Amino acid sequence: ALLLLSLNAATPETHYTVIVSLDGFRWDYPDMYKTPNLDRMAADGVKAVMLPSYPASTFPNHYTLATGLVPDHHGIINNTFWDVKNRRQYSMGDSATRNNPEYYLGEPIWITAQKQGVKTGNMYWVGSDIAIKKSHPTYYRPWNAKPFLTFEQRIDTVLTWLQKPEPERPRLIMLYFEEPDGSGHHNGPCSLPTGAVVQHMDSLVGVLRKKIEALPFGKDINLIVTSDHGMTDISPERVVNINDYVKPEWCEVIDGRTPTSIFSKPEYRDSICNALKKAAHIRVWKKEEIPAELHYGSSDRIGDIVVAPELGWQFTDVARDTKGAHGYFPQSPDMQVMFRAIGPDFKRGYISGGFVNVDIYPLLSHLLQIVPEKTDGQFERIKEILR
Ligand code: AMP
Ligand code: ZN
Ligand code: ZN
Repeated sequence: ALLLLSLNAATPETHYTVIVSLDGFRWDYPDMYKTPNLDRMAADGVKAVMLPSYPASTFPNHYTLATGLVPDHHGIINNTFWDVKNRRQYSMGDSATRNNPEYYLGEPIWITAQKQGVKTGNMYWVGSDIAIKKSHPTYYRPWNAKPFLTFEQRIDTVLTWLQKPEPERPRLIMLYFEEPDGSGHHNGPCSLPTGAVVQHMDSLVGVLRKKIEALPFGKDINLIVTSDHGMTDISPERVVNINDYVKPEWCEVIDGRTPTSIFSKPEYRDSICNALKKAAHIRVWKKEEIPAELHYGSSDRIGDIVVAPELGWQFTDVARDTKGAHGYFPQSPDMQVMFRAIGPDFKRGYISGGFVNVDIYPLLSHLLQIVPEKTDGQFERIKEILR
């Protein structure tokens, strides 16, 4: 009976779900700054601290939220990485490689939904404008399309999707904002300007909630507000230069910063490891020795040596206008993220013990009453937040 119910995606009892990502929104920003709208969501729904996947950066984690797979399994193992097969660098900042579907493994939730007859709308979520498995969300907007939409325009576009006639209306909407990440990098997580941006993002959450609740079926809409990773202070005094330890001729390729992947020349693998083990404030592992809790090391896009800085340390000179960074271990509280959820399917005034971000895909599948793909996520771990 359960299976039958799940397959019947368009039952009237299925609610709508809007999931919002505020990039780089650390879990404790609501304790540091005034966030009345997020506080109201906590009172009316669920409040939690969510762990990102490793590494705590934007492309790996947004794609984890979409697929339920850790970066090691979905292929976007960092914001940049060395593509061994084609001998070129993938970079989120280079649209030629970013938009190449071959890099994106696993199945984003919008595809799982659409295969089962559920329409989706997507505003700028990582992967949404890329032809993964030759398809796109029902409604989406390419990141590179001009004009680049303001935050207010994104909210209004999402509202036009929700106002479509019932048969065309998306059941799942994903909405992305690149703040407070930008301000967190520029000013540091604990600063007046970042506080102001956090407060502005909070007010936009209030605007979105008000507009959603004003819809005739507003009471049928779940709203989740969360993020990809946190933010921590960095300083020009906390820098390690890998080149002080490793000779360039020992390596085929060195790529990425937090962590750095080294593709060694095999005869120098031990020399590289031994040299780096002398450096303070970094961790160095042979790929097969990476601690299991990081779930990192099976992808061929990860070098045979992985070098990770400790929280707040950097591998290259810190640019003078950068005071915050992320990409560190998910177990570091500064990397953990805010999570709020309200709506017909969520408990009210509930503080969760926390969960990991691979569990979002099974959560969304449950809310949409669709059959999920097999992933690294577990519905059992997150279902406590549901009514
Ligand atoms: P990070 O370097 O991890 O702080 O990356 C954050 C940046 O990722 C944002 O400021 C955006 O410029 C970029 N970004 C976020 N989403 C997308 C997307 N869907 N497509 C392209 N770039 C994106
Ligand atoms: Zn980010
Ligand atoms: Zn960032």
